[in-house]
Amino acid sequence: MDADPGDALRAALRAAAGHADAWLAGLAERPVRPAHGAAEVLARLDGRLPAGPSDPVAVVDALVEAVGGGLTATGSPRFFGYVVGGTLPAALAADLLAVVWDQNAALASLSPAASAAEAVAGRWVAELLGLPSGVSVGFTTGTQMAHVTALAAARQRVLADAGWDVAADGLTGAPPVRVLAGADRHATVDAALRLLGFGTRTTVEVATDALGRMRPDALRTALTATAATQRPTIVVAQAGEINTGAFDPLAEICALAHVHGAWVHVDGAFGLWAKVSASAPRRALVAGAELADSWATDGHKWLNVPYDCGIALVADRTAHRRAMSASADYFVLDSAGQLDPVDWTPEFSRRARALAVYAALRSLGRSGLRDLVDRCCDLADDAATRLAALPGVTVLNATGDRGGPGPLVALNQVLIRVDDPSPAVDRAHDPRPAARGDLLTRRVTAAVTAGGEAYVTGTVWRGRAAMRLSVSNWATTRREIDRAVAAIADAVAGPARPPRPRDADPHPGGVPL
Ligand SMILES: *Cc1c(COP(=O)(O)O)cnc(C)c1O
Repeated sequence: MDADPGDALRAALRAAAGHADAWLAGLAERPVRPAHGAAEVLARLDGRLPAGPSDPVAVVDALVEAVGGGLTATGSPRFFGYVVGGTLPAALAADLLAVVWDQNAALASLSPAASAAEAVAGRWVAELLGLPSGVSVGFTTGTQMAHVTALAAARQRVLADAGWDVAADGLTGAPPVRVLAGADRHATVDAALRLLGFGTRTTVEVATDALGRMRPDALRTALTATAATQRPTIVVAQAGEINTGAFDPLAEICALAHVHGAWVHVDGAFGLWAKVSASAPRRALVAGAELADSWATDGHKWLNVPYDCGIALVADRTAHRRAMSASADYFVLDSAGQLDPVDWTPEFSRRARALAVYAALRSLGRSGLRDLVDRCCDLADDAATRLAALPGVTVLNATGDRGGPGPLVALNQVLIRVDDPSPAVDRAHDPRPAARGDLLTRRVTAAVTAGGEAYVTGTVWRGRAAMRLSVSNWATTRREIDRAVAAIADAVAGPARPPRPRDADPHPGGVPL
């Protein structure tokens, strides 16, 4: 007789729990960067496909042994790279249970639990973000697929308004759709447009200002040109630019776009959460977002649920469902037709990721989420203020309207540049201080992350190298900011002489997530 399969599962899970405990116990203090690179992990992990079975506990132990050195402590309160966020305790536990329960969230009949969690968590998210009640919600892998979901709904609606059902008749022969997006849109917008058959060359790029905000006058000009040809139009706006954290003027953009019958989609991967802030200036950044037609945001960034979780919200339920719904004769459908997640997402079978969102929001409550968001912003501002005092350091995303005691940076992103404070020293060798600053900035970025004290990432802003810090983790405190600022100060002071462009570049052109 075989043993109860539950026993084997429990044994494997206990082994995993031991490793999880060890990881979490060291999370706050371990070096944030991984010990090994991918090639080294590959060498440890690689081997022949096993000819036969192994003991599951031995497999778990061997896996941890092989990949352990290749883990980045992205959940560390000293991780400031990209825009990542950690994991709230309740969200971690709920997500583990989603795996243990192995729920398929495609249909309410198949997992009433997953479906109900999506309904409630989706409603709570919409309420917190101040979006119209009754928006339809799809839980996706991230903002990337939330864009695909929402822009598919947009495509459905603007073409339907032009007398074309793209769900049935496809894009071939359809009236051309004009897509307008800011010049500083996130790369995932382009990827979504590509997947949806719009391509990227046809996107009308709307000019942005110094911080990456779409310029309403440029949008007005572009829309007027669009109106002349009566084309179906989609405008993609942004709440939270990945480098600067800047917001497009959403109220103005929505008003302009709607005059022309355009659909407005908002990329608010992290920025939309500014809506919950206790600070009026921060809330003002996101003012008007509720006037848009669709929104994409992340659970796995600022909401601090585990990877992966994105959320698509759409005001036009009919277009959303028509764009996404799939059915089959063998489905047992929700009788009311609202609770089957398969109607609202591009996927069929999928995990129950809303359980973690529900747990995160239930554990924080409105005030806990507000405090998380404001703490991150306050800490980012503190970091920016102290970094600005270092020799050669410039904060590139300073708001510029700091008339009095207001913050230096508007949200949770800090974008800095390190220039050689004494560029005259090596003038004879190098007449290009900007290039030297690029190299210095990249070196400092690489040195900070290599040191393990803090994890920061590089980017290119307005043609020049820059370093980004994103404060997005619920557990980050003033202590971790102190350590990060100290590590950056050491790296800035570090090089005995300013690097010259002919030196090897340790970290060429980082591209942010
Ligand atoms: C992170 C981010 C994305 C992509 O989100 P994923 O969850 O990684 O797919 C899109 N837009 C902005 C502004 C982002 O910050």
